[in-house]
Amino acid sequence: MTTGATPRARPRTVRTRSEGQWAHGYREPLNFTERFKRDSDGLDVRDRIIGVYARNGFASIDPSDLRGRFRWYGLYTQRRPGIEGGRTAKLDAEDLEDSYFMLRVRIAGGQLSTAQLRVIGELSRQYARNTADITNRQNIQFHWVRIEDVPAIWEQLESVGLSTIEACGDTPRNMLGCPVAGIAADEVIDGTPSLNALAPFVGDPAFSNLPRKYKTAISGCSRHCTIHEINDVAFVGVLGPEGQRGFDLWVGGGLSTNPMYAQRLGVFVPPEQVPAVWVGVTSLFRDYGYRRARAKARLKFLLADWGTEKFRTVLQEEFLGFTLVEGPAAAPPSTLRRDHVGIYPQKDGRFYVGVTPSVGRTSGEMLTRVGELAERYGSQRVRTTIDQKLIILDVPEAHTTPLAEELEKLGLSADPSVFRRHTMACTGIEFCKLAIVNTKDRAKQIIAELERRLPDFEVPVTINVNGCPNSCARIQTADIGLRGQIITTDTGQHVEGFQVQLGGGLSADVGFGRKVRGLKVAADDLPDYIEHLLQTYQTNCLPAETFAGW
Ligand code: SF4
Repeated sequence: MTTGATPRARPRTVRTRSEGQWAHGYREPLNFTERFKRDSDGLDVRDRIIGVYARNGFASIDPSDLRGRFRWYGLYTQRRPGIEGGRTAKLDAEDLEDSYFMLRVRIAGGQLSTAQLRVIGELSRQYARNTADITNRQNIQFHWVRIEDVPAIWEQLESVGLSTIEACGDTPRNMLGCPVAGIAADEVIDGTPSLNALAPFVGDPAFSNLPRKYKTAISGCSRHCTIHEINDVAFVGVLGPEGQRGFDLWVGGGLSTNPMYAQRLGVFVPPEQVPAVWVGVTSLFRDYGYRRARAKARLKFLLADWGTEKFRTVLQEEFLGFTLVEGPAAAPPSTLRRDHVGIYPQKDGRFYVGVTPSVGRTSGEMLTRVGELAERYGSQRVRTTIDQKLIILDVPEAHTTPLAEELEKLGLSADPSVFRRHTMACTGIEFCKLAIVNTKDRAKQIIAELERRLPDFEVPVTINVNGCPNSCARIQTADIGLRGQIITTDTGQHVEGFQVQLGGGLSADVGFGRKVRGLKVAADDLPDYIEHLLQTYQTNCLPAETFAGW
């Protein structure tokens, strides 16, 4: 796709019933979530966590805080160990949830100092049983956190400028940024100042009650590595009508069960206008977003009904008060890999080293060690990526090889197999209450098997593994997307399995994967299935034909 036009339906006819939009005067809550948000804002729960719940323990937590407002501070209860997938519909929330929490640390643009990384590593060891998963939105998640320990964790995170505020919930989630912003030789514009200019709006009560989660991305790099196509609002670096540097504005992307690509509004946003435009789009979503049904509350549904022309008009007339600059042509899609794995020169003469934790899984011990190694080899800056990777910046050339060798010993490879590099997995049944199947261990097993069976396979085929019908691992955008479910075998057994979707992609290969009708593969058969698929592709594809284009 070169124009930025999105394969989505024309604007639908105007809805006749109320969708609970505040702008139309509807303030009465239309569902459980809207009710608890009206009764007490999600941000209010911090004081109760510190003053009541951490002192009195798990049993003292009010249910609407536990299953609602805690998300505004990145807290979700974990799945109780031992509960199988596919049997959860009949369980009450209390039976399903454990008294331990997942805690998500928000990392804007994946930007970390080595000092911050070492604090995260220490917190993981001290309070989270050494767990630390890198998510596909540049966050780091702990597991096994007790409510009693949350204030101490916050205190230490805040002492180094980190927090968990609005890491989940109906809020502006962690804002994505290019992990090599400011140092990439081929970037159009450094998006860091614009990303940092949005920091004051995190935790702002004006935006703490949105209709649904709200995802932001800013990137000026030519690889477009913040996946602007599937964010609610995205600023993509381009040259303006007179050659000045700024951003192309995209809105309304999102995956989950009704995936839609973001669309360009056809405007050029100079860096100094980014905060005003972000506030305008976010306010428009807050006021016009649908609050009746949670499944229809993301911005993408409003855009689908309105179309880009009406969206832009309302944005300008009701929320900005100025006319946006008519945009230039969209930036051309990138054919480069977006994950920054490997050793690359920076524009200042130093180098960065991108490495691959297997399916985003690291540990407190590992992160502490990465921080120490980065410092020993001259770096004080580390980045997380949207592909669950880690990057060490500012490494002098002579230190790149020894650093990469040390990281390899930790299981963090700068030269991984294509399978290790391009396989992603969501949290899955280990901790997630919605999960139906295991994902992380299953994905690691697939990687190991494919590395053994296809050692010479070099094509960058992405394999994304989801534990349920949601899309935390972005399965619709993978070459091979695997959606976990319980399937029935020929012998009538119920086993873990996956619905297969093929041919998804982003950037130059943009398109959602196609569900292969009826194709469900038992989890144990996945290595055989994928091996056969990849061998068939290699045998039959034309020269330079990608898997998605095959
Ligand atoms: Fe949980 Fe489903 Fe998201 Fe995986 S995709 S983390 S199983 S909600």
